[in-house]
Parts: sequence; structure tokens; C-alpha cells
Amino acid sequence: MTERVLSLDSLAVHAGREDFAELGVHAPPLDLSSTSPLPDIEAGGLSYESMATGGHPAEGGGFVYARLWNPTVARFEAALARLEHTTEAVAYSSGMAAMTAAVLAAKQRTGGRHVVAVRPLYGGTDHLLGSGLLDVEVTYCTAGEVAGTVRDDTCLVVVETPANPTLDLVDIRAVADAAGDRPLLVDNTFATPVLQNPADHGAALVLHSATKYLGGHGDVIAGVIATDAEWAAALRRVRAVTGGLLHPLAGYLLHRGLTTLPVRVRTQQASAEKLAGWLATHPAVREVFFPGTPQGDPAGLIGRQMRGPGAMLAVRLHGGYEQALRMTGGVRLFTHAVSLGGVDSLIQHPAALTHRPVPADARPDADIVRLSVGLEDPDDLCADLEAALTGATG
Ligand SMILES: *Cc1c(COP(=O)(O)O)cnc(C)c1O
Repeated sequence: MTERVLSLDSLAVHAGREDFAELGVHAPPLDLSSTSPLPDIEAGGLSYESMATGGHPAEGGGFVYARLWNPTVARFEAALARLEHTTEAVAYSSGMAAMTAAVLAAKQRTGGRHVVAVRPLYGGTDHLLGSGLLDVEVTYCTAGEVAGTVRDDTCLVVVETPANPTLDLVDIRAVADAAGDRPLLVDNTFATPVLQNPADHGAALVLHSATKYLGGHGDVIAGVIATDAEWAAALRRVRAVTGGLLHPLAGYLLHRGLTTLPVRVRTQQASAEKLAGWLATHPAVREVFFPGTPQGDPAGLIGRQMRGPGAMLAVRLHGGYEQALRMTGGVRLFTHAVSLGGVDSLIQHPAALTHRPVPADARPDADIVRLSVGLEDPDDLCADLEAALTGATG
């Protein structure tokens, strides 16, 4: 009998928990140890060497030191890898620590130091790549320009889809083909594995700011990269050496977050569809950015690459920045705050906040406001926006 392949919903609940019956537990053990008793010098030393070079703990050698390995974090990584259709995943202290590790690992693996970055990107990613801190030369371009922009010394191509903040969609397979044998990193934070699996479309590295939907409750800062065994070894080595590791309690919370990820994302998406439709008819709104509209998905990627439009949207206001000021100040149920993907709805102004470090010619327009739709009743959310917009118009 062939083993039944579990669906995403079942994996979200059970992945990384396969040994529970054997252990006699019903919730994942939370191991907060900073160090581990060594079996003996020889076995401990071999395990240390294995992990410091990016491998797993050696058989019978233990975890040695928590900068090298933590079993609670490893459970979350194994579960996320299953959801992203990859063999491994490596978690970090933040999405930006994960992006930093990806660039360092890519430089080391390929010997190149040129990065191709498709805009728009999250402002922090744009900032990091252009900062000079990672000693890379960056060429920013559109998805269509990747083929003409990659060079022999290109170590990494970076893409975000849906992109922050205007929800532009990128055809991952087309960019992977254009990148040729250069590794492609896709930031899958907005789609989550519920709606999109970039590894199935040619991405070598699938990055998440786990702070957002994976955690889902606004109480964890974390990043993770799902990938194959060779990349995972290079990425773990960067983590072991530079120390940008995830705290085990955060790993525990993220693993718990995965169990409700599919129901959260689908419910929030249904509300976002309702809000997008309502906002499109609102007199204060000039334009709605949402992949669920025909203009939001010109290449027809929903159905082919994505399983739905997601729960993020943005609006362009007739009243410009002045109206954005009053709208963000007038909400009661939405929280005026950066970040996204949690159970509660958030509203923020990208040009002034999340995309502030982006050079002016690539920064989002000042009349755009971004919304992260949470689990509240969508009618209550519409009423809150109506009051904020009416106050903002008047
Ligand atoms: C927030 C975010 C990041 C950065 O993640 P942190 O966890 O804040 O470091 C990267 N990419 C996207 C799309 C994001 O929204």
C-alpha cells in the first residue's frame, strides 16, 4: 500500500510532530538549554564539527551548544519545509537575518558578488541589499529585465510576490528561466505556503518573514528559508558562525502558528476580497491594489501559480497624503501600525514607514495606504474604514 500524501491542512497540524506518541507527549517539548551535556570528548567533537559546517548533529554526539542546534526550532523547520515542498528549512532571528544569511551563503557558494533585485521589494530588503554592508553590487530591475541583467558573477536573484506594498505579482517560473543557473530567492511572506509554493516553480530559496502570517499573532520576530539540503547546510553554517539564530520559544510559537495557518489565511483572504470590492466603489478611493481584481493579476497567475489573492491590499486615495494622515488616524478597529499577517487588522502608510529607506524614485506614492486584513468580522472592518474615510474626506 502506498502511503497517502497528506494535504496542506493535515500537514499544518501534524508536521514536525511525528514522534509524539513515542515520546508520550501531546505538545512539542520546549528545550531552552543553552548547552548540552557531552557524551564524551570524541563524539561531542564530531557532532560540533558536523553542525559548525552546516550539518545535523552527529549520531550519539548531542547538540553541544544551542547556537549550533535546537530541537524545538528544528521541529518548526521540518514542518515548514513540508509545507513549502522542500527537504529542509533554516530559521533565523528575523526575516532580515534570513535575507542576510541568504546573500552570504550565495556569495560563498557561487563565488560571485552581484545581486539582481526585482522591485518592488519590502523596504528593509531594498535597504539591506543597497546598504553596502554585505559587500555586494546590486542591480535593481523589473521581472522582465532579469534575463538582460544577470551576469556570470550574479550570485543571487531576489524577487517578492505578491510584492510589498502594491501587491504586484511576478511569474516565478519566468524569472527562474531568465535567471538560468543563478539561484532564485522568492520572498513568500505575503502568499504563505497556503497560497503559493515557489520551490515548485523553480525557486532555490523560499524566504519568509515568519513575523507575519506564520507566527500570525503579532508576538514573534523571526525569519525562515525553505530549501534543499545543500543550501540548508550553507545557510546553517552562516547561522552557526554569525549567530542570527531563532530563540526556542519563538520556534515553539511558530510551530503552533502553523497549525492554524490555512484557516487563518483563507478566512482573512475571504474578508480581504469583501473589503477590496467595497473599497473599489468608495468615492474616497481612487485605486485598489489587490491581486483578486483583473488589473491586479494581468498575467493570470492566480490558479497557475497562486491558489488565491491573499489578505493584503492597498488603496490610492483621492485626497492624497493629507487624507492618508486622517484615515490612519481615524481608525478604531484597525490598528495604525506597521507589520502584517496577524489575527488583527493593521493599516499603515508605506512611503513614510515600511518603505522609508527606499530611494525616492522607487518609493511608493504618498497617496497609498496599505491594509493587512485580520480575522475580525469584515462588516465591522468596512464600518471602521467608512468612519475613518468619512472623517478623512470631511
Ligand atoms: C517584514 C518583511 C520582511 C522582514 O522581516 P523581519 O521579520 O521584519 O525582519 C521581509 N520581507 C517581507 C515581505 C516583509 O513583509
